Amino acid sequence: MTTTLDAPPLGPLLDDIVRTHRPRQEGGHTPANIPFLSTIPYDRFGIAVATTSGDVFSSGDAGVAFSIQSISKVFTLALALQGGNPEALWQRVLREPSGTSFNSLVQLEAELGIPRNPFINAGALVVTDHLMQVTSDAAAQVLRFLTEQAGAAEPGSGSGSGTPYIDEAAAAGELARSSRNLALAHFLKDFGNLAAPAESVVENYVRQCSIMMTCSDLARAALFLARDGQGSRGAVLSRSQAKRIGSIMLTCGMYDAAGEFAYRVGLPGKSGVGGGILVVVPGVCTICVWSPRLDAKGNSLAGTAALADLCEQTGWSVF
Ligand code: GLN
Repeated sequence: MTTTLDAPPLGPLLDDIVRTHRPRQEGGHTPANIPFLSTIPYDRFGIAVATTSGDVFSSGDAGVAFSIQSISKVFTLALALQGGNPEALWQRVLREPSGTSFNSLVQLEAELGIPRNPFINAGALVVTDHLMQVTSDAAAQVLRFLTEQAGAAEPGSGSGSGTPYIDEAAAAGELARSSRNLALAHFLKDFGNLAAPAESVVENYVRQCSIMMTCSDLARAALFLARDGQGSRGAVLSRSQAKRIGSIMLTCGMYDAAGEFAYRVGLPGKSGVGGGILVVVPGVCTICVWSPRLDAKGNSLAGTAALADLCEQTGWSVF
């Protein structure tokens, strides 16, 4: 896949995307269960493109760390698949779009504790639980994986070191408001689909959601998905596993807006309520965009518009 011949050069194009899509007035919302996110200025906007040949192009606030939230679910799934026995995991979580909000309880009870996919909260709790059977500190494992794939030496401390780190204060703020995620975990437990205690699975899940990263680092860290499973230090996943994560991103990555996102952008994507969206252009690049204000489905308003614009101008699509 290549860019269309008349596409402008990437650097100036990203500058143009920032000029066009950086919000000029407050709109959208931030999630009530994560108070820290409401303190982020509404006009933050960053975008980065990491190419499979090793270049990173970026613009706007692409060097400012933001809360990756549900984008972490892509990496937790990659780690869980890497850890062996993927079939055991796929007996506990399906691969179907949910058509419901990311934290819905209704479907989980109706479907007897088997979450629709790994990217809704219930599914991510199961994947985290699977990972916790290998390592009790699953969040630290996810942080280390992201740090390695982004090409940084060691996880950061949160003191402005520039490398990925867990914002423990943000995690504590969310944990104090985790009734809904705890309810999902207790449902899973009641249906026999959670091995570890509900509280420790939710704590691990919330801490991995609280990882802070820049657009540039996140785009770089996800490159293995655009490169048939090859990461910065060799194979992360097999080609078919990488393809399958892309498939689940395309069908489930934007929750109940997955269809609309596929229509507008035409690429596998994963959003987080921190306002980030990660997109994979197989064989070409990864894109990370960040703008904190969300639409009604919990996806970045300006981020989605920017991706639709960028992919229209470059011709990037899986279709
Ligand atoms: N930590 C958030 C939650 O569980 C993640 C949700 C998201 O980014 N969609 O509510």
